[in-house]
Amino acid sequence: LKTIIRSNPGLLLLKDATIIGKWSHNQLPDPDELTASPDKLPIGQQPDDGVTGKLIKVLLTFLLPLTLLTIADRLWAWSKWVRNKEKKESDKIFQIFKNKKKMRKKIVAGNWKMNLNLQDGVALAKEINEALAADKPNCEVIICTPFIHLASVAQVLDQNVVALGAENCADKVKGAYTGEVSAEMVKSTGAQYVILGHSERRQYYGETAEILKEKVDLALANGLKILFCCGETLEERQAEKQNEVVKAELEGSVFHLDAEAWKNIVIAYEPIWAIGTGMTATSDQAEEMLAYIRSIVAEKYGQEAAENTSILYGGSCKASNAPELFSKPNIDGGLIGGASLKCADFKGIIDAWKK
Ligand code: 13P
Repeated sequence: LKTIIRSNPGLLLLKDATIIGKWSHNQLPDPDELTASPDKLPIGQQPDDGVTGKLIKVLLTFLLPLTLLTIADRLWAWSKWVRNKEKKESDKIFQIFKNKKKMRKKIVAGNWKMNLNLQDGVALAKEINEALAADKPNCEVIICTPFIHLASVAQVLDQNVVALGAENCADKVKGAYTGEVSAEMVKSTGAQYVILGHSERRQYYGETAEILKEKVDLALANGLKILFCCGETLEERQAEKQNEVVKAELEGSVFHLDAEAWKNIVIAYEPIWAIGTGMTATSDQAEEMLAYIRSIVAEKYGQEAAENTSILYGGSCKASNAPELFSKPNIDGGLIGGASLKCADFKGIIDAWKK
């Protein structure tokens, strides 16, 4: 009874096993009301809200707030899901954007050619190394030196700051090839890169696509990365054959590589008419060609590999035109001749990546 009344003491009025009323001891009916037997008085009557009314009351008291609470909870959970989804989508877009930017290396490489004696070369390498150690570049920097400089320059470079490369290597493994320097020898100096296919070697030393293919294979077999050059002559450009020429150069010497080996290739487009002439290709001309090269790399190795391939421009590139050239989406840096022979000039080009 106490449980039913929920009061101690309390009063419970029952009739035929039906609860007519219940009172806590604080709210007992006024004794003055009890003027007759309870079944004659209003307090002794069944309340007129029947079972339906009670059910409605119960529903309103419990089910309605519960329903409202459930709806609010579901709405909140749904909005959270939408927010998460939006965040994931934007993360994905951000990731793609970030990856796009990160995908391939930006590179500025110097090609000293046949300039500087050993002492001057070592002094320049030291100066470049110090300048870049003090003011970290925003790109990978490589200096490619004559063979006789390699071992000494390797001693003065911190290759985390400036990587070292050779300008050439032999198309033979080893043996009786007087005057030649093998890929293995280059690697043993500490060099990591080698320039192959430069137009000066094709032009003055008769390096054909087949010879270059041998060199490419030997360089890779010895763990060297390759800066592979291609580019057309002025006559070929005037005859609008530049795409054809560049494609044939790549097909002839590097497109035989498998996808794994391809990761070690950097392409340098150097129009022969722009090398050492002061006649730079316009940034649009360079961009157009580099986009074309990327498209044929994509055809051969797939879009992702093409996006990961660094493609450089070379030919009268200097601090004054580098920012414009490097601002183009397909130009990933430069292969620099004349302007790599003085630290300030070379650094000026490297700094173009900071603009
Ligand atoms: P220049 O920068 O002197 O034109 O030379 C470009 C070049 O041939 C780099 O390999």
